[in-house]
This record gives sequence, structure tokens and C-alpha cells, in this order.
Amino acid sequence: MSETAVEVVRQHLIDPEICIRCNTCEETCPIGAITHDARNYVVNPGKCDNCNACLAPCPTGAIDSWRQVAKASVYTVEEQLTWDVLPPQRDLVDEPGELPPEVVRIVALASAGQGGASPPPWSAAHPYVNLYTVAKPAVATVSGNFRLTGDGASSDIRHIVLDFGQSAFPLLEGQTIGILPPGTDAHGRPHHPRLYSIASPRDGERPRYNNAALTVKRVTEDHDGRPVAGVASNYLCDLAKGDSVKVIGPYGTSFLMPNHPGSNLLMVCTGTGSAPMRAMTERRRRRVALGEGGSLMLFFGARAEEELPYFGPLMKLPKDFIDINFAFSRVPGAPKRYVQDRIRERGADVAKLLADPDTYVYICGLKGMEEGVAQALADVCREQGLDWDAIMPVLREQGRYHLETY
Ligand SMILES: Cc1cc2nc3c(=O)[nH]c(=O)nc-3n(C[C@H](O)[C@H](O)[C@H](O)COP(=O)(O)OP(=O)(O)OC[C@H]3O[C@@H](n4cnc5c(N)ncnc54)[C@H](O)[C@@H]3O)c2cc1C
Ligand code: SF4
Ligand code: SF4
Repeated sequence: MSETAVEVVRQHLIDPEICIRCNTCEETCPIGAITHDARNYVVNPGKCDNCNACLAPCPTGAIDSWRQVAKASVYTVEEQLTWDVLPPQRDLVDEPGELPPEVVRIVALASAGQGGASPPPWSAAHPYVNLYTVAKPAVATVSGNFRLTGDGASSDIRHIVLDFGQSAFPLLEGQTIGILPPGTDAHGRPHHPRLYSIASPRDGERPRYNNAALTVKRVTEDHDGRPVAGVASNYLCDLAKGDSVKVIGPYGTSFLMPNHPGSNLLMVCTGTGSAPMRAMTERRRRRVALGEGGSLMLFFGARAEEELPYFGPLMKLPKDFIDINFAFSRVPGAPKRYVQDRIRERGADVAKLLADPDTYVYICGLKGMEEGVAQALADVCREQGLDWDAIMPVLREQGRYHLETY
């Protein structure tokens, strides 16, 4: 490095727009590098040694935020505590002193690899975030809770309607809210919040009522199949009409739907990943008479028909409104089919949508599904003479490819 070069460091930050103020990172950090006030959780640049121990436990990914900054002008704790949004990556050559070209190149490469969420669609409505916090949650009343999965189904997935009463709780399709389960964990600390996608459109489960619906799966075993009673999902699934629930949020500034007429939605989901797809589909259904139409294509995977939330209502939607493709993986006597198989079967129509600059792609469901779906989309493009490797970055850059898995 030349004598005039600025020493550059990778500063660990927390995205205040995504963070749900759950305190998990502060409890996890082994050296006390995370602190907070009533507004923000922040990382102390003088303490953090980039050990990454806090990344995996963060339920939102807000902790996985980084900026390349000149060492002499890192963002201080005091500065970070005033933020509502993360500052953009500073142009490092504007820092005092000259950067040698090799440092500029390395910095550019490091930023390119950071990835992160896509921008929202250009016509998405403005999302409100962080209106209610752990310290000041909204209190909603349960106005409905019924089982969506069939009697013989192995999973208990429920449609839960929350009424926000006099509290303003503006929501957009694709956003999530946080639920604060009552009680404490094994260490005597309040349970941390869990996120749930909104399953109803922005004007409410019942239009013009101040309410919203959730699609919640009761967790009875962990990811390895061992019996366990999930704290928040069991709490929610057991709620009765009239019960009160503490809610924080809303969250989400990226996985939002386009508002302009003629935009197409290509939706791929499994299980409760159907919640945002239901919200978007219902928004379009209510707006179609106003000319907001465009093509809707849905790929929906489940073990069997009775395990699939919203199977009945989906079947009633007109075929010229939405093109629905189910994939069932555990039907006795039938071959296993996954969403990626159905995408390949419908390759010509999927490729036609992907080639349309007005198509927006949404993928939501189990962690790990993204790889299979992306591979299927790549195969479909190749077969139809399109270059997925060229299309994919453009989709992301233009806010037309959104993924949410958990
Ligand atoms: C952005 C986002 C959106 C989400 N949207 C929804 C939604 O719309 N509907 C919904 O039901 N859930 C949704 N989730 C998952 C939800 O936040 C909880 O993680 C889930 O309900 C389990 O919480 P719990 O308190 O019941 O289980 P915990 O008490 O937190 O966990 C108990 C055990 O179960 C395991 N486990 C956690 N989640 C699951 C799971 N989903 N399946 C199997 N095992 C699990 C854990 O590893 C742990 O071992 C979403 C998560 C994210 C990050
Ligand atoms: S959401 Fe992530 S960054 Fe925010 S307080 Fe919780 S663990 Fe920390
Ligand atoms: S990276 Fe390590 S040191 Fe830095 S805040 Fe996270 S846990 Fe603490």
C-alpha cells in the first residue's frame, strides 16, 4: 500500500430496517460488542473482532450487514444509534488520501460478493417497518383460528386472524410481523420473537377491517425429526377467539409485490410459504376489476392434497385468473413430484414469463428449496434458448427475484 493509501476495514453493522430488536445477538456475542438503546441495536467497532458467532442465531439476517470504511472514519456507536436505515457504501476514494488501484479493486470485489436482499419492485408501495417494538408491542385480539390441513394430515397448519383494534398497523403483502410468546426460556429470559408472513392483503383479511391473517404450522418436531414443542407456533395454534397477542413489526422492505397494471407474478412455494402468495393473489383478485391484471402462475408443493393449506379456496379461483400447479410428494401409489418437477413440465410457459420484463418471481418455503427451484428455472431457460446466468442477475438487480426460506 502506498504512503497515501487509506487503511480500509470491513465494519460490522446491523440493518435497523430489518432488525426486530430481539436481543439474541447481544446475548450471543462472547465479548459484549453489541449494545442497544430504545431505538437500535448496534455493533461497537472498537470491540467487535469479526468472530461471526452472532450471525447464525439472528432470526432476520439484520446482523449480517457490512460496509467497507476507512479505518480512521468507522461509524461510531453514537452515530449508529441515530440510524433509521443503513448508510450506502461510501465511495472510498472520497476519503482523505488516495487509494491505490489494487485496493479499489479489492474493495469493489468484496462489495460485489456481499449479495443481500434485492431491491423491491419499482412500483411497490412504501412499506412501513418497526412501528412496534419489543418494548412497545401492539396488542392484537384473535378473531379467528381454524385448521387448514385435513383431518388425516400429519401437519396442523392454521389460519389465524388478528384484529389490531385501534392500533394502526399498516401492512403490505410479503411483509412479516413478529409475535412475542408469553413466558420465559430455559434461562429465565423472555422468549425471543418469531416472525410470521402476512397471509392477507393490505386492506385486511376482511376488507377495510383493521385485521390480518397468518398461516402457522404447529412445530412438533425439530429439523432432525426429534419430538419438540415449538414455543411460538404452539402458542399461536392454541389461541382462542378473543385472546390477546403481543405483536411487533411490521418488517420487510424487499419481498413486496409490484403495483403496476400488467405485471406478472411467478410464485413458487411449499407449506406455509403459501402465506405471502395468498396475500398477493388475494390482492390481485380484489383489484382485477380495476384493471390491475397480469398473469399469475403458482407452483405449490406439499406431501398430499390434505396437507396443503388453502387447497379448497385455490381450486375455486378461475383458471383465466391464475395458473395453479400442485406438486404432491407423498400420494400412495403415485410417483413423488416436487415443485421443480412441475416447473420443468411447464417449461415453455415458465420461460415465456421469465423472458417478459414485467415478470416478478417469488419463492417462499422450506430452507434448501431455493437450490432445486433455481436449478429447474435454469434448465427451463436452457431448453427454451434463454440464458439463466444472464437473466438471474438482471432479475435481482431490478427487484424481480425474491426469496424467503426458513
Ligand atoms: C421471514 C420468516 C417468515 C416466516 N413465516 C412463517 C409463516 O408464515 N408460518 C410459519 O408457520 N412459520 C413461519 N416462519 C417460522 C417461524 O418464525 C418460527 O420459526 C416457527 O414457527 C418455529 O417457531 P417455534 O417457536 O414454534 O419453534 P422453536 O421453539 O423456535 O423451535 C423448536 C425446534 O423446532 C425447530 N424448528 C424451528 N422452526 C421449524 C419449522 N418451521 N419446522 C420444523 N422445525 C422447526 C427448531 O430448530 C427447534 O429445534 C417464518 C420465519 C421467517 C424467518
Ligand atoms: S434481529 Fe438480529 S440484529 Fe436485530 S436484535 Fe435480533 S439478533 Fe440482533
Ligand atoms: S462478530 Fe463476534 S465479536 Fe462481532 S458482534 Fe458478532 S459475536 Fe460479537
